[in-house]
Amino acid sequence: MSSRRSFLQKLAAPIVALPLLSEKTKAGSINPLAMPYQGPVLRVAIMGLGSYGRRVADAMVACKKAKLTGVISGTPSKIKEWQSKFNIPEKNCYNYENFDQVKNNPDIDAVYVITPNALHHDQVIRVAKAGKHVICEKPMAINAKEGQEMVDACKAAKVKLLVGYRLHFEPKTLEIVRMRKDGELGKIMFFQGLSGFRAGDPTQWRLNKQLAGGGAMMDIGIYSINGSRYMVGEEPIWVTAQETKTDPVKFKAGVDETIQFQLGFPSGAVASCLSTYNMNNLDRFFLNGEKGFGELLPATGYGPIRGRTHKGELDQPHITHQTVQMEEMAGIILEGKQPIIPVDGEEGLRDLKIIDAIYAAVKEGRKVSLKV
Ligand code: NAD
Repeated sequence: MSSRRSFLQKLAAPIVALPLLSEKTKAGSINPLAMPYQGPVLRVAIMGLGSYGRRVADAMVACKKAKLTGVISGTPSKIKEWQSKFNIPEKNCYNYENFDQVKNNPDIDAVYVITPNALHHDQVIRVAKAGKHVICEKPMAINAKEGQEMVDACKAAKVKLLVGYRLHFEPKTLEIVRMRKDGELGKIMFFQGLSGFRAGDPTQWRLNKQLAGGGAMMDIGIYSINGSRYMVGEEPIWVTAQETKTDPVKFKAGVDETIQFQLGFPSGAVASCLSTYNMNNLDRFFLNGEKGFGELLPATGYGPIRGRTHKGELDQPHITHQTVQMEEMAGIILEGKQPIIPVDGEEGLRDLKIIDAIYAAVKEGRKVSLKV
């Protein structure tokens, strides 16, 4: 088992699928997954049947608005296993050579790309050219140039491009964002994001620059980048960053082990963040304002996310992130729903622009201005 998986699993408690919850959640709001549903359904093919693809597929079983109808994989034995587990017909199974043919498949509305990072760019563009909506895992690509090309290709093909930012639908995260928006924290002064775990197997694709596009920053540091933006509620205008590497054999050139970085926002708020593949127990967001604070600890694991503010513990219910994400993304694609925190290609592109600036700041040893 990869150490990333064991890291996230350690953070995960037994998962409570939403349909098991009563129609009213603890907070008193209606739980849409417990209500009967007769509207349109987003039919999704998953590309990349690895560990996260499987987690998404399992979570989608509880969805009402989204359904797994197809698979794309280079491994015939995995396709067979998924076919029997998820009842997928032969005609909805593709490999990496022939998946452009989804174009002619009326049973697939969208493809969810869950492959190694450096493959996302070409795969997303091919899906867009086949006329299907695309959901792409984070990081959306390995640099902003690629990300822009993906956004442009999806626009040209008139398909939606969404990024798998599951925390944008997470209830405790959304409560802190609501409090910040309603002024309950006062003027925002500071954000801290700590994102890291010890990467295990040195042969895994995450430590291969060709497939990962970088190191910890691409994989886990991106949570602090993305989190700083939605927690502070502004886009950064400058970046400074410092890299340390203790194991240059395991973390080769272009594969970052540990980077500390700072982001400056137009209001004067600053973020101080750590991204690492060499330390465990790092998964914390802390937002500080003149009137109060919000903390998520853990902030980004599969849950339960725990949180508190200056007013006390947050008690929003734990939800299976990927179930709610897919349910909400079906609403965005099929009904034009607007999420509270965006999950579109432009959102993914902003994070890539910041990653480019962080790498430039490390390389050049200077403060880098940016406009995202
Ligand atoms: P994984 O190694 O478990 O799965 C990757 C899959 O891609 C495998 O099935 C593999 O066979 C396939 N693949 C296709 N072409 C490949 C190639 N050339 N080389 C290697 N594998 C190839 O990885 P994962 O953990 O499922 O990660 C996949 C993507 O999902 C990554 O972009 C990662 O950042 C993202 N992810 C997101 C989350 C999240 O919480 N949102 C969590 C884990 C992973």
